[in-house]
Amino acid sequence: MMYNIRDDSQRVSFPEAVRLGIGRDQGLFLPEHVEMIADMADLLDMPFAQRSALVLSRLVGSEVLPEDIQQMAHAAFNFPVPLVEVQKGVYALELFHGTSLAFKDFGARFMAQCLGRFHDGGPMTILTATSGDTGAAVAQAFFGQPGVDVVVLYPKGRVTPLQEKLFCTLGGNVRTFAIEGDFDACQAMVKQAFLDEDLVNTLGLNSANSINIARLLAQVCYYFEAVSQLPMGTEPVFSVPSGNFGNVTAGLIACALGLPVRRMIAATNANDTVPRFLANGQWDPNPTVATMTNAMDISQPNNFPRVLALGERHGVDLKQLLRSVSLDDAQTEQSMSALHAAGYVADPHSALGWQALVDQLEEGETGVFLCTAHPAKFREEVERVLGIAVELPESLAQVADKPVLSQTLPPDMEALRPLLLEAAS
Ligand SMILES: *Cc1c(COP(=O)(O)O)cnc(C)c1O
Repeated sequence: MMYNIRDDSQRVSFPEAVRLGIGRDQGLFLPEHVEMIADMADLLDMPFAQRSALVLSRLVGSEVLPEDIQQMAHAAFNFPVPLVEVQKGVYALELFHGTSLAFKDFGARFMAQCLGRFHDGGPMTILTATSGDTGAAVAQAFFGQPGVDVVVLYPKGRVTPLQEKLFCTLGGNVRTFAIEGDFDACQAMVKQAFLDEDLVNTLGLNSANSINIARLLAQVCYYFEAVSQLPMGTEPVFSVPSGNFGNVTAGLIACALGLPVRRMIAATNANDTVPRFLANGQWDPNPTVATMTNAMDISQPNNFPRVLALGERHGVDLKQLLRSVSLDDAQTEQSMSALHAAGYVADPHSALGWQALVDQLEEGETGVFLCTAHPAKFREEVERVLGIAVELPESLAQVADKPVLSQTLPPDMEALRPLLLEAAS
């Protein structure tokens, strides 16, 4: 069962939580039981998809047949997850080998599997807000799926041209809107749509945002994969470039399941609400500022209540396990150059994660930084900062010359509402 962290009395099955997306009172779902796995060594020995199915079954409970989860995990996780040593004791976990070239493929593809299986046959519209990478992952995961409409909102001018090409050129069942506002404004419109019962029912609205429990749980799996590829007995420090804090939440769930992790570092850009909160206990979001790590331009991270719930309700020792630091654009550029000098080309988000890691890593510790996007996805920035040419992988080369099909809209639900309903009629 899943429970609503704002309203304990709401308990729903995993399929129901995936369909609902968000619970009563805008509360997020978490698994009721997140308990230590006893046979960790055996688990770590298994191949990725098989191990992932076991981890997911453990979190989901008996409501979904293990065979079904097994099939879903195999279908969703169909690309490699290499762990690359870039310096002694410092590893890059490359999460960008899926179709949209960012780690969001894990969650989006698993969620598409879930909805394909759990859907009751009525209308279904996936309405999602993106700061760049979610849109591509979700659009590609659901593109062409019969009976599903996809609507993606993104902040106009704040995603890179290549990011935009990956989800705004598809057409078919995917519609994209460039919103004249920041990501928080897009996210607010999605929240508002979900408060509109008429819309929810007529369209069968589902948000594929990182608040969806299917996406979150899918992301737990690659933390196990990272540890499985390290020398036996290693207890790594993970550094996670963070925006909405879904990725960090998934890592903390892995810790609660007993994965050996020394600590997690949530690395943010100048949007530093969480590092300030962990330092002084004040939740005091500033207006969102635009940075070169645009997928993390979020000042009110949606998933943070889950982090707190893991501490309060599931015994995760946040004081011990979680640190958070903020790096600005100048520091991000320096870290890209320093990492390049060490022989590794990373996108700005991943380089920021690397810097936070090496700044915090103590003598004798092993560190893993999550590479959240392929460098080609941020080609302009990487080429400008490093002065090298970045080749486009196949999936990007295919869309680079296609026209963007998005419509521009003000950050106003009244403008979006008729357009949403139009497609349903
Ligand atoms: C989404 C994203 C992030 C932030 O992940 P959260 O789970 O929202 O914290 C970091 N880097 C890249 C490239 C992303 O696409």
